[in-house]
Amino acid sequence: MAGTGFDLFSDRSVVAMRVDGELKDLATTLTGTEQVEPITIDSEDGLAILRHSAAHVLAQAVQRINPEARLGIGPPIQDGFYYDFQIDEPLTPETLKAISKEMERIQRAGQRFVRRVVSDDEARAELADEPFKLELIGLKGKAAQGRDGESVEVGAGELTMYDNVDPTTGETVWTDLCRGPHLPSTRMIGNGWALERIAGAYWRGDQRNPQLQRVYGTAWPSKDELRAHQTRLAEAAKRDHRKLGRELDLFSFPEEIGSGLSVWHPRGGIIRHEMESHARARHLAAGYSVVYTPHISKADLFATSGHLATYAEGMWPPLHMDEERDAITGEVTKPGVDYYLKPMNCPMHILIYQERQRSYRDLPLRLSENGTVYRNELSGALHGLTRVRGFTQDDAHLFVTPEQLEDEVAKVIEFVLSLLRDFGLSDFELELSMKDDEKAKWIGSDEYWESSTNALRRVALASGLGLTEVPGEAAFYGPKIDLKTKDALGRTWQLSTVQVDPNLPERFGLEYTAADGSKQRPIMIHRALMGSIERFFAILLEHYAGAFPVWLAPVQVVGVPVADHHVPYLERVFQELERAGIRAELDTSGERMQKKIRNASLAKVPYVLIAGDADEAAGTVSFRLRDGSQDNGVPIAEAVARIRTAIDRKSQV
Ligand SMILES: [Zn+2]
Ligand SMILES: [Zn+2]
Repeated sequence: MAGTGFDLFSDRSVVAMRVDGELKDLATTLTGTEQVEPITIDSEDGLAILRHSAAHVLAQAVQRINPEARLGIGPPIQDGFYYDFQIDEPLTPETLKAISKEMERIQRAGQRFVRRVVSDDEARAELADEPFKLELIGLKGKAAQGRDGESVEVGAGELTMYDNVDPTTGETVWTDLCRGPHLPSTRMIGNGWALERIAGAYWRGDQRNPQLQRVYGTAWPSKDELRAHQTRLAEAAKRDHRKLGRELDLFSFPEEIGSGLSVWHPRGGIIRHEMESHARARHLAAGYSVVYTPHISKADLFATSGHLATYAEGMWPPLHMDEERDAITGEVTKPGVDYYLKPMNCPMHILIYQERQRSYRDLPLRLSENGTVYRNELSGALHGLTRVRGFTQDDAHLFVTPEQLEDEVAKVIEFVLSLLRDFGLSDFELELSMKDDEKAKWIGSDEYWESSTNALRRVALASGLGLTEVPGEAAFYGPKIDLKTKDALGRTWQLSTVQVDPNLPERFGLEYTAADGSKQRPIMIHRALMGSIERFFAILLEHYAGAFPVWLAPVQVVGVPVADHHVPYLERVFQELERAGIRAELDTSGERMQKKIRNASLAKVPYVLIAGDADEAAGTVSFRLRDGSQDNGVPIAEAVARIRTAIDRKSQV
């Protein structure tokens, strides 16, 4: 049927359409031969269109208030949108309020978004006062591949302007260079949006460029969804691991050491120690060996591994060592060697494999290490423990025969799920990264890709977890499985990776002797379960909002005497706790009892044990739990056993 999207879709939640695979405005004229699908406002594409349309309204509001404001870009982002402006005066929360008011007016006016194709010259003439937009026109085509939001404005095809047209007068009130599509009208932005904050941003992300002011906003199909989003944000801010890390005295980033390098305080240290010891015991039980390797290596190793060719920008600059100079002339008599901090542990584990002849009987060989690696993250990208410059991977490399591959991957997946469940995580899904049809991108035979991808797929399906397949996301040498988990706030985190790799064994010429005496090449499996221990710790800290399960709690019990003369009695009780390996602290400070209980609660201690006259006479203690509930008159032996059991079972209380 010829006509427009408005003729095809009467449902008001349809805000755009996909025509032969491309997103288009509903107003696009159709011939009737295209394949057309509706885009509803609550779909991923629909939300992006809503948010991007809200960004236009934001820009229009800013220019209404300040006609001198110059426009940068305004793409949709996760949960919202932003727009960059060049404005002389700094924006403030007060100006944001005024901008919001203006946006409401534009929203209510129900301006239509109207697409108009222009030539480069026409666009240049229209945008003569918008230097940043002019620059984008020059980038057309290139910007389509850009990783910033520029592709929102100009793509590889024709240039388009979007006019905001007043529905009563038919007059164009505002225009922006944009590829679209947009909502049919500003009215459809509804009232599920809000401006959130102001930030600085360099034009096109380059600090040599002018600094612009960025306004962030959020937009949802309804006011209820906006409120739910704001509640999630507030809860996430309360749980921010950087804030909890300070409040609970767990870790810090001393400026004297350098950006992105953490130190762990006693309370954070004991949690990490428990995490690592538990994981290590489980690795040993699962047939892994433990190895140790240095933090640095000569450049040659990373040349052989290919890291220097493909990963150099992710590595710290080299240290130059062992250079010798003539004492008098200063001439170099012995050239030095470059050393690099390791960005990955794999090459060093390979050297351990290569230290002796390997036979098929040695395989699978599972080498595990909590290996500290260093990566050159931009200082602006650093974020608490989740984005750092030095971190420890719970890394392992498995060297297997091709026949063992599927079985070993299955064991790894089973192992990772079981270990993550020990930490109280329960909501998992898998992602299988595969090759796509682009020929030049991948190495290895079609048979290898098919068999290894099928093996991973069978293992993933057998796990019973949700599985998404992503063509084109594999490493150039092999497929991988990523495991994602959801935390208590429903946020998704990528944790574990299991990566099949025949490439490094090839580069290093690894071999084993097969049963028939022939030399064969093993396959490597790279796998990290927590990924980065620092980041995993941060995820757990936010997941539990600092109230760790008993086995991980830095202090498991705080003792509170009702009066000073109950201290000796509690000291005897605490000897029993310590004998049972329970981390207990007796609060003998001069504070009042209620204050002591409050302090223990702020420190998120699982158990407070209180004792007064009745308890002392009966040989009992009284429990007070995190939720404020109390259990009085518990005999000492029973109290110790109760806490010990909660630790051993990794229970949350
Ligand atoms: Zn637009
Ligand atoms: Zn590796």
